[in-house]
Amino acid sequence: MYEIIIIGAGPAGISMGVEAHNFGVSPDKILILEKSGEHSFTIKKYYSDKKTVTANFKGFTPVCTGVMCLTDSSKHETISYLDKAIEDNNLNVHYNETVYKIERNESTKSFKIYTNKNIYESRIVTIAVGILGKPNKPDYKIPNEIKEKVLFDITTFEIKNSKVLVVGGGDSASEYCQFLAEEKENNNVYLSYRRKEFSRMNLLNKESIEALVKEGKLTLLLESNINSLESKNGKPVVNFAEKKYGSMPFDLIVYALGGSTPENFLKMIGIEFNGPHPVLKEGYETNIPGMFLIGDLSAGKKGGSIIWAFNSANSAMQQICKNYLQCET
Ligand SMILES: Cc1cc2nc3c(=O)[nH]c(=O)nc-3n(C[C@H](O)[C@H](O)[C@H](O)COP(=O)(O)OP(=O)(O)OC[C@H]3O[C@@H](n4cnc5c(N)ncnc54)[C@H](O)[C@@H]3O)c2cc1C
Repeated sequence: MYEIIIIGAGPAGISMGVEAHNFGVSPDKILILEKSGEHSFTIKKYYSDKKTVTANFKGFTPVCTGVMCLTDSSKHETISYLDKAIEDNNLNVHYNETVYKIERNESTKSFKIYTNKNIYESRIVTIAVGILGKPNKPDYKIPNEIKEKVLFDITTFEIKNSKVLVVGGGDSASEYCQFLAEEKENNNVYLSYRRKEFSRMNLLNKESIEALVKEGKLTLLLESNINSLESKNGKPVVNFAEKKYGSMPFDLIVYALGGSTPENFLKMIGIEFNGPHPVLKEGYETNIPGMFLIGDLSAGKKGGSIIWAFNSANSAMQQICKNYLQCET
């Protein structure tokens, strides 16, 4: 019987392990289950290698309330910091293990956690699986012939010497454009956004977009809505709703539309929802006693950040100590 089982080894799951250890839970009573072969899969897959990982992502005030914290860093520094947190706290992470079912046993007040490899028991469960397991996709069809030319991240393969359309209006879209428009990559980059202005980007990313446009490295397609995609000679052609944009061919299309809460998974476990968001109480506890949602899953409509993930783990741990486990304070 574990004291705490944590599902997902991203910033939220790792900091949950660190917080639990810091509050006196022995590392052999903490287990982290991660579905991919390495921790922080979202960061590794979605961040470009040259990205600055910003502490105030999405305008969050960069104030840390728990053990873990972040200042503006490189992708490599951020991953090393998380590596070290696992190592220094002797956290036990089982990789390549996907959780597909969780049951609460009312009589023992504990949980049974089912993975593709094993069944575990724990007094507390924290779910930290993030929202990017399935990135948001457009609602029009992507023809089969061009599926390999339509991407949802920029690390799947190296993008060079290509005419690329980025679709989106948030920080990720801006960062993708900055990465793709670097001179040595020799790409011809376009950004399609449905609104007139970028209201969801932080100031730095907004200014970077403006600078790229001024330098002639980026073409902005503002107030553009995509009606459909088609394949012409194996290349994607984008049909815009607006006459001024018409139909345009590209070598590649990259969508930066964010992700969404894995509603089916959480509802199947029995977690209550209010519209698209899970109902959460103090310390991000769900309607199921002893089950917590942290990180991006607890951030609501605005979406989360790394510091949000760290702080949510600290809040959850405080609640766990108050109501469930005997902790050292
Ligand atoms: C392009 C991009 C740029 C960003 N830039 C910044 C930035 O500069 N600064 C910043 O603070 N934030 C940034 N963010 C946001 C930040 O990455 C997230 O807020 C943060 O990663 C959320 O942490 P998390 O632990 O909640 O989820 P995640 O990081 O998504 O981690 C979830 C983990 O759970 C695992 N998992 C999923 N399902 C299961 C399952 N069923 N069983 C077991 N394991 C599972 C996943 O493999 C993954 O490792 C950015 C996001 C994107 C997409």
